[in-house]
Amino acid sequence: MSDDSRRPLTRLAQAGRRADWTGMPGQPGAIVSPGVWRASTILYDDVAHLRKAAGSSTHERLFYGRKGTPTSWSLADALTEMEPGAEGTMLFPSGVAAIACALMAVLRPGDQLLMVDSAYDPTRNFCEQVLKPFGIETLYYDPTIGAGIADLVTDRTRAIFLECPGSLTFEVQDVPAITAIARDRGITTLLDNTWATPLFFPALAHGVDIAILACTKYIVGHSDVMMGSVTATPALFPKVRQSAYLFGQMTSPDDAWLASRGLRTLGVRLAQHQASALEIAHWLTEQPDVARVLHPALPDCPGHELWARDFSGSTGLFSFVLQGGDEAARAALIDGLAHFGIGYSWGGFESLALPVDPARYRTATVWQAEGPVIRLQIGLEDPADLIADLDAGLARFRATRG
Ligand SMILES: *Cc1c(COP(=O)(O)O)cnc(C)c1O
Repeated sequence: MSDDSRRPLTRLAQAGRRADWTGMPGQPGAIVSPGVWRASTILYDDVAHLRKAAGSSTHERLFYGRKGTPTSWSLADALTEMEPGAEGTMLFPSGVAAIACALMAVLRPGDQLLMVDSAYDPTRNFCEQVLKPFGIETLYYDPTIGAGIADLVTDRTRAIFLECPGSLTFEVQDVPAITAIARDRGITTLLDNTWATPLFFPALAHGVDIAILACTKYIVGHSDVMMGSVTATPALFPKVRQSAYLFGQMTSPDDAWLASRGLRTLGVRLAQHQASALEIAHWLTEQPDVARVLHPALPDCPGHELWARDFSGSTGLFSFVLQGGDEAARAALIDGLAHFGIGYSWGGFESLALPVDPARYRTATVWQAEGPVIRLQIGLEDPADLIADLDAGLARFRATRG
């Protein structure tokens, strides 16, 4: 069980650095961070030791490369320490793999899953293309439903999946209201917490059973590693671990090491992402060509008051709605940007701009807006340069829109 007596920034600096992973038995001294342990085969002294290892619970013990080495255990432990109330964390080769495996850990044929309508598109695809053929039904719900989720619950409802805020349109969900109802009815809740990270939203403390991160984004923070994690309560962690083992899921030690290195600076990076994104979001609200800014810390964002109540910060990803204009005018804005890359993913040190079309990915709600939407990932560049770049972009948008 993770220790929550230290403040989060202290935990970030100290987590996962167990003495038996940083030192050598019988020798004084220790390295600061566990090194990269690459392994497939683990060698035993004799057959008796081999049999003993095979017969024991092998979590965080050398057994075979697929079950990890101190490099991955250290990262998993650090993520567990960032989530008060957690029993453990399993690592996955991508965020999508983490989502898929977490869902498979809790759902069985005949079950029903309640899925937030603003969910990440590949999460929806997994429900439709994998769960459905296996006899698991997915019902999509309005992200602003709150305690109204109770009306959707049936005898077959086994799990509720949340993503807060949605990573295209940023509706903030009432997580405590939904998890309270789920607890009451014995339903498991899973949250995609990639945007806030446990630093700004400790999910299990808000009643969530299973917290999922695309570590690819802020944990790694440098746009060079794919990884996912699933952190769970004592009741659910054994199921998650078993599911990860059965599906043969793991991460490479080199990637785990890079993610551990990223994690140490999560606090300072997020503080800067937050400050720069807020400055740019406020500037955008003053531009006549911008109809709305979808940022949880701004009052226009659906669920803003829930963000203010439950979150201790905001990060660098948000969207804005253009005033009128079409696909071509939006492309003119994005294509000429000097300081924003055009690409998927986010959470790295560099800024990105992406055209997004939320209407395509909804079934329970209707997305209506004044114009096309652009999602920005605000990196660690000087925000004044980014604002000047967006200002020129809005001029191109006006010229193209006519
Ligand atoms: C990127 C992302 C994922 C998936 O992570 P990958 O590592 O790219 O597979 C899941 N959820 C959200 C909200 C994301 O932005």
